[in-house]
Amino acid sequence: MYDSSQIDSYITDGNKYITEGYRKCKTVNDCLKSLFYWHNMLLDIWTSIFTILHAFATLIIFNNYDIPFICLFLVAIIHAPPSIGYHLFGCSGMSYESFLYWQRLDYSMIFFSSIFLNIALGYYILSPVTLAINVLLILFLWLYIQKTIMLNRTPHMRLYEISILVTLYFIPVYYQMYHSYMSHTFFYGVGMILSLLFGAIVYAIQWPECKIKNFVLNSHAIMHICINLAYLCEHRFILEAYKQVNKYS
Ligand SMILES: [Zn+2]
Repeated sequence: MYDSSQIDSYITDGNKYITEGYRKCKTVNDCLKSLFYWHNMLLDIWTSIFTILHAFATLIIFNNYDIPFICLFLVAIIHAPPSIGYHLFGCSGMSYESFLYWQRLDYSMIFFSSIFLNIALGYYILSPVTLAINVLLILFLWLYIQKTIMLNRTPHMRLYEISILVTLYFIPVYYQMYHSYMSHTFFYGVGMILSLLFGAIVYAIQWPECKIKNFVLNSHAIMHICINLAYLCEHRFILEAYKQVNKYS
């Protein structure tokens, strides 16, 4: 394991507080071996693997194959593999090209998978026309990201762009929370907002590594855990919306 003075600076990805736990993998095999020892990307990788397992489990356990449930499943299947690739291969120290490739793919897929998240959240809530407009707005944002993907982004620029994205895909959630105050969907909406907000704040202030020397449970890993918690709330939100629709039809 290496400290930040022994690695190329790009691997730190703008986080100067994580000073140790870096890898210098030479081959894909070295990267794969790093699934099984402690380093500063270990939880990032495993939380994304968990996302995929969780998506399969919820689909199978709830046995509901309506469009929103399939879309929510696709969100995990589209975004988690590039995230695993970025943390497992991109940040392994193999090469700068590999880092850029995986970082751009990971970033692009956050936006692309959000199209499906928006359909999942809005399907039972918004009218088809409103949902289509909402989806188009996210599609345009993704196209903008694709066009500007070659530009290097600081963590704060990413946070700014992702905040716009979350605001857009949350439109059905705000709408539902406003119209069914204190209902089940309301509380799952609160759950989504709080987990994503907490994840964003932790990521922005780079806590806890800014206060406590720690490389395993770092801000990025906590942000991943928050995304998984939000996913859980998103699934419950859709399930409650589904129950409401089917009760009255
Ligand atoms: Zn990540």
